[in-house]
Amino acid sequence: MSLLDPTWSALLYLVAAICFILALKGLGSPKTARRGNLIGAFGALIAVVTVFLSSRLENIPWILAAIAVGSAIAWPIARRVQMTQMPQLVAMLNGVGGGAAALVALLELDHAADWWTRLAIVLTLLIGAVSFAGSIITFSKLQGIMSAKAIVFAGLPVLMGLVILAGIAAGAWVVVDGPFWAAIAVLVLGLVAGVLLVLPVGGADVPIVISLLNAFTGLAVAASGFVLGNVLLIIAGTLVGASGTILTRAMASAMGRSVSGILFGAFKGGSTAGSTEASDRPVRSSSAEDVAVLLGYAQKVLIVPGYGLAVAQGQHTVAELQQALEARGTEVVFAIHPVAGRMPGHMNVLLAEANVPYESLSEMSEVNPEFKTADVALVVGANDVVNPAAKTTPGSPIYGMPILEVGDAKQVVFLKRSMRPGFAGIENDLLHEPQTTLLFGDAKDSLTKVLSAVKGL
Ligand code: NDP
Repeated sequence: MSLLDPTWSALLYLVAAICFILALKGLGSPKTARRGNLIGAFGALIAVVTVFLSSRLENIPWILAAIAVGSAIAWPIARRVQMTQMPQLVAMLNGVGGGAAALVALLELDHAADWWTRLAIVLTLLIGAVSFAGSIITFSKLQGIMSAKAIVFAGLPVLMGLVILAGIAAGAWVVVDGPFWAAIAVLVLGLVAGVLLVLPVGGADVPIVISLLNAFTGLAVAASGFVLGNVLLIIAGTLVGASGTILTRAMASAMGRSVSGILFGAFKGGSTAGSTEASDRPVRSSSAEDVAVLLGYAQKVLIVPGYGLAVAQGQHTVAELQQALEARGTEVVFAIHPVAGRMPGHMNVLLAEANVPYESLSEMSEVNPEFKTADVALVVGANDVVNPAAKTTPGSPIYGMPILEVGDAKQVVFLKRSMRPGFAGIENDLLHEPQTTLLFGDAKDSLTKVLSAVKGL
């Protein structure tokens, strides 16, 4: 017997759905993201408790044991994960979600009385399996378990086509007749399709595919809601599907790419990965004291944070540098590129952690005209997002991506450790321009030295 009657459980599901919508709204800005996240987690808690109270569940000890094991694995991982490893974590969690939806659908096949439910089962199996296998590959690429380069081999498009056709045939069989072995075939073909879909995606495009697979998981979950007759799963899945699609498009357009180009570009033979070789062309380097003089006597400084700032964990030091410069009367603005770092909003989150005021952050379109009037552009661990090759070199992996116009500033200072290129693996000509100076070293160390020199001016 269930403890809650259907009206109460419908009401609680409605509350959970509202929490999910408010969570998405909160996640739209760094100021409200933490609260949004908590509201979403609260909604999920309501949903899980409602299922326990409103359904006649069997195997409750097994369910509780599974929850305990999942929590015991997820808790320490989530606590330990570095900010720079967040895309991998998202890929993994997302893949597990798609896989879980597929398994639930497989187990429901026995109870599926009509072709409509069996169609929903096929869609859940297929999309969930693609998402699971694709996410494992993206995780492996980002974690360095396998090469992050696009992997293409002769016959890949043909193989992909055959897998899709076989998947449709097996799926049709399940819908018409419902044999278990055909459902297993759909699952396996979905897994193979997931691997083949992601293998040819390389380098900077991998996180965009994570977002796309996230949208797929949402669709799989929504389809599983039809299988189980659960409205909340349909709502939650649709929200994930829609928001994942919007995020995918936003990331792709920020990088000057089309989603189809990312997925199918490599089929045509193009690779998006560059090299990791260090350049040996000459550059001008200087000391922390020289950089401090440049900054300390400037009227306007634009700071461009990038992935290296996150690696060095230099956000608190850069915030202190901002305060020290402002105390001397220098105007300081952080110029934020939408794909700086390794995840959307990475720099906003990083700087918010160091309590940099939101008013000091300026988005790319707003800040670009400002570089012309800046005395110094201080590039801290950023490379691709300021690389002029995006405008001047057709065929370069970042060609077409809008960049921060750092080269317009009177002086440009790069803080980086070596002459190695950034994520896209291409040289940056700006490093060799006459107005550019490099301060070599870990960004946090360099910032600490510059900060103490600025204080001593
Ligand atoms: P890049 O990867 O282009 O450059 C990072 C720079 O930081 C390098 O020059 C590196 O040079 C330097 N660096 C690394 N570690 C340190 C350190 N400890 N101290 C000082 N410097 C360091 O980063 P950007 O932020 O400029 O660009 C982001 C790239 O990531 C783009 O190509 C974007 O397309 C891609 N991307 C972004 C996503 C997003 O959503 N934000 C998602 C997926 C990809 P060195 O090794 O010499 O120190």
